[in-house]
Amino acid sequence: MSTTTLENLAGDLASGTVRLVDLTHTLDPDFPVIILPPEFGQCARFRMEEVSAYDHRGPAWKWHNLTLNEHTGTHFDAPAHWVSGRDLPNNTVDEIPAEVFIGPVVVIDCSAGAAADDDFELTPAVIAAHEAKHGEIPPDAWVLMRTDWSTRRGAAYLNMQEDGPHSPGPTPEAIRFLIDQRNIRGFGTETVGTDAGQGAHYTPPYPAHFYLHGAGKYGLQCLCNLDQLPPTGAILIAPPLKIRNGTGSPLRVMALVP
Ligand code: MN
Repeated sequence: MSTTTLENLAGDLASGTVRLVDLTHTLDPDFPVIILPPEFGQCARFRMEEVSAYDHRGPAWKWHNLTLNEHTGTHFDAPAHWVSGRDLPNNTVDEIPAEVFIGPVVVIDCSAGAAADDDFELTPAVIAAHEAKHGEIPPDAWVLMRTDWSTRRGAAYLNMQEDGPHSPGPTPEAIRFLIDQRNIRGFGTETVGTDAGQGAHYTPPYPAHFYLHGAGKYGLQCLCNLDQLPPTGAILIAPPLKIRNGTGSPLRVMALVP
């Protein structure tokens, strides 16, 4: 009897030949959310309200009501999140084809650059150096920018200065290259957004959001444990909640690693 791929996978997971890596931060009220200039609407933090805890409100059960923004904690960005993707078909989390939520992932290691420079930029040259070492990014892959930013805690995570937040991210040229030349599926970061902290100063402003979502691509933010992924060869699992007309959602992101 021949062994199927899925039987092999089940065996490899049981034996540890294939490892599951959790790329998700714990969602709690202290997890930082993006802060926009004061003239704009603001992202709500995660909030949890106890409904009952084995008491007179519910003697045999415990549960909570949750309040949160779609873009809180480790989360997924749908094309409808940005004005450039507002008229695309299937642009909300409930309409995106489910096949998108599992697939190959490439990790570009920018950790040394980000350690030396809070405003480190992922440029076409950085991508070229990655590809020279690890091979060309295949079409329809998730691409993650590893910066080790996820190890920061508290105020150091947003890294707010007098002129706004400072954190690493991609240049407009890098994002255009990933879309036009590599036709990626989506782009993910360890920071609070797919764009750099100073991303408002590029042309266009917030180029990752603008170009990715305008091209029907997806975003992942506030990822962690990217240092545990290989440059290529892992499989990403990232299904957002199925919220009608949702522009994104918190989610559990995992990777299958050989
Ligand atoms: Mn978002």
